[in-house]
Order: sequence, then C-alpha cells, then structure tokens
Amino acid sequence: MASAIQQFDSEHIWHPYASAHGGVTPYVVSDAEGVYLTLEDGRKLIDGMSSWWCVIHGYKHPVLNAAIQEQCECFAHVMFGGLTHEPAVQLARDLLDVVPQGLARVFFCDSGSVSVEVAMKMALQYQQARGETQRVQFATVLGGYHGDTWHPMSVCDPHTGMHSLYQGRLAAQHFLPRPQSRFDGELCADDVKALDGFFAAHGDEVAAFIIEPIVQGAGGMWFYHPDYLRHLAERCRKHGILLIADEIATGFGRTGEWFAINHAVITPDIMCIGKALTGGYVSFAATLCTDAVADTISAAEPGVMMHGPTFMGNPLACAVASASLGLLRNEAWREQVAAIAAHLQAALSPLKDWDAVADVRVLGAIGVVELHEAVDMAVITPMFVEAGVWVRPFGKLVYLMPPFVISAAELQQLSDALVAVLKAYCDV
Ligand code: PMP
Repeated sequence: MASAIQQFDSEHIWHPYASAHGGVTPYVVSDAEGVYLTLEDGRKLIDGMSSWWCVIHGYKHPVLNAAIQEQCECFAHVMFGGLTHEPAVQLARDLLDVVPQGLARVFFCDSGSVSVEVAMKMALQYQQARGETQRVQFATVLGGYHGDTWHPMSVCDPHTGMHSLYQGRLAAQHFLPRPQSRFDGELCADDVKALDGFFAAHGDEVAAFIIEPIVQGAGGMWFYHPDYLRHLAERCRKHGILLIADEIATGFGRTGEWFAINHAVITPDIMCIGKALTGGYVSFAATLCTDAVADTISAAEPGVMMHGPTFMGNPLACAVASASLGLLRNEAWREQVAAIAAHLQAALSPLKDWDAVADVRVLGAIGVVELHEAVDMAVITPMFVEAGVWVRPFGKLVYLMPPFVISAAELQQLSDALVAVLKAYCDV
C-alpha cells in the first residue's frame, strides 16, 4: 500500500530514467545516518551504493554538518562574477594539494555533466586559440559514460547510452574499442594497436580525448590496465590532442588512490571531478586544467573561458567540500578502502563459479558481479530491501560501492545480503 508521499510522488515527480506511468515505486527515506538509510516505515537499510557513489564519509557526518551550518550563518550564496570568497579560495587550495601535479586552475561548476561540458568547451577553445580550428571532434572509448547533458551524451557509449533516441542531433565523435587489458592482467597488444591506428588516421582532427581513468563506471563497471592510459597520454601529447580525465566517479579515494589516474602516474590536461567532492552533501563539481591550457585560452580572442553558471563556486558547497577533503587528508581512507577491497574480493570471488555469473571484479571500494542476463529491477529491488540493504543494479551489473566508513560487521552484513539475494534470484 503506497504512503501519501509515494502517492503524490508517483503522480507528479520524475525519477531518474523513469516512466510517468509507474514502475518500481520509490522507497521513502525519512532519515539517514552513518551507512544507514531509514525508510518511512522504520526499516533500516545499509547503503551499498553511497547514494550513487558520492557519500564516502556516510550520512549526517558531524564535521560536514558543522561546515555547511557554519557557512550558512555567514552567507549561503553570492554570485561569482566579480566576487570571490574564502570558501572558494580554500577549496581551490585544498584541491590543488591533492590533484595530479601540473593541474593549476579550477573552474567550479554545478554537477558532473556540467563539468564535462566545461571540459569539452575548454578543449575546443584551446584548439581554436592555437589556430587548430579543424580540431572539432572528440575521441573516447566504447563503454564510457560522461553525463546526461548534450555534449557529454555524445561521448557516452553509443549503444548503452542514449544515441539512438537523439540520432542525427548529437555531435558525431570517434569511438575506439573498449580497452580489453584488465586492471589485474597484462596490457594487450591489440589495445595499443587500436590506439596507434586511430592516432595515425585522426590525430589532426581531434580536439581532445576524454576517458574515465581505470574504471568505466555507469558504462559497464569495467577496470582496465594503467598502461593503457600511459600509452594514450603519450600519443595525445605527440599529436597535440588534449587528454581529459573524467574522475567524477573515481576521484577521492574510491579506487585506492586519490584519483584513478594516479595508478598510471600521469597528469591529464583537463580533469573533471564531482560526486564525492562534497562528501555527497550537495551537487557540486569542478573542471581543472593546466596553466598551459588556461594561458592559451586567455591569450587569444575572446580571451575568456566562455562559461559562468549562476551557482558557480557556491559557498555552502565549497565549505562542505573543504571539510570533506579535511577528513580525507590524514589518508585513513587508504586503509578503509583496502579493507573493503579485501573483504569484497573474498566475499564475491566464489560467485565466479555460478552459471549465472559472467565475471566478478574488485578494485578499491568497488565490487562488481556481472551476470549473463540483465536483472529484473522490479523483482530484485524488494529482495534487497527485505534483506536490509540498498543495492541498485543496472543491466547485468550488480555491484557494491559502500561508504568508506562502513564497519567490518556492516560490510559483512552487506555482502552476505548481496550473496543471499543473488543466490535466490539466480536460483543457485
Ligand atoms: N562522468 C562520470 C564518469 C559519471 O560517473 C557521472 C555520473 N554518474 C557523470 C559524469 C555525470 O555526473 P552528474 O550525474 O553529476 O551530472
């Protein structure tokens, strides 16, 4: 029986990728603390998703709550055109301390997708400023995801993404094969061959290569080899193509390094961050670039970076993001993430032997069970809720990305629930 909240919600509110005519009724959250979501009916669920990967410190964290409350007492927002403030400057300082060396300038924006829009505009302006006006296309690999707004959609995987819906309207980009080299395996010669073939054919048409370093997230939860990124970076540099690292899903410790690109020890020309930037408190993101990119754009007509959202550099977001970085600064997350990785490896690996399972992979605080068939969300979602956990698969992928602060006992409960539900669902 739907509650009053669910009733109104179903009649008037859109949810992500949802129909206006029903589907799985959303559960109503009435409270959240630590790793727990409390539902309207009092049930408590361990959140295995970190609310789409951003709530790394858990809910209702006293330090993050205090940071946003204190800033609220000063001022919640001021425009960023012609004005600046201490929270923005502090956050930029904090970020530049931890991002790959060489990134020197920060463009604050509202969400991950917008940060990718900004990165793509930055790349085009940079190439235009250099007189390379023929460089109007972007390159990427299959299986990627970079956001739901217009230009990011054009570099999302053309099959699992939304290309067919908007055919003829999205910019046509270059897609290389998904890197086959597994993170925990060897670099495949075919991956390097594909890079070489592409750069030889299109090295002078492309403005930038955009890629999710190491972990392809929403496009398939695939982990590839760091050497692929090294080869890519080398070729981009040689051909005058900018490398855009989309660290929106991977940034801030999730893969066991501050940023996934650190596994390859390279610095991109442009980097997008979001999601865990504010510890999952408010929507916020940033696009960082090197001085070379910023200076080139600023030295040519029109001499400015053409983007400026209303809520750019929002002080509440900056304050809570700085507080989140403060929590990460002692690097205790390294041990937490390593412990989650070890647990997920032990708990999920045995599922490899199941007929219904195609692959199991774990990297940092990410554990993925890839099935042969797409899951039926209407069936499996209530099973997870009944088991006391919040897990939201997509397609064939059932995965865990818990908050870093999850205790050993909570993690055991979460993985036990995942295995039990999958066992029942797959009829093992
Ligand atoms: N890039 C990547 C790699 C992402 O995972 C996401 C979000 N899942 C985005 C971009 C878009 O971010 P947002 O949903 O905040 O717009």
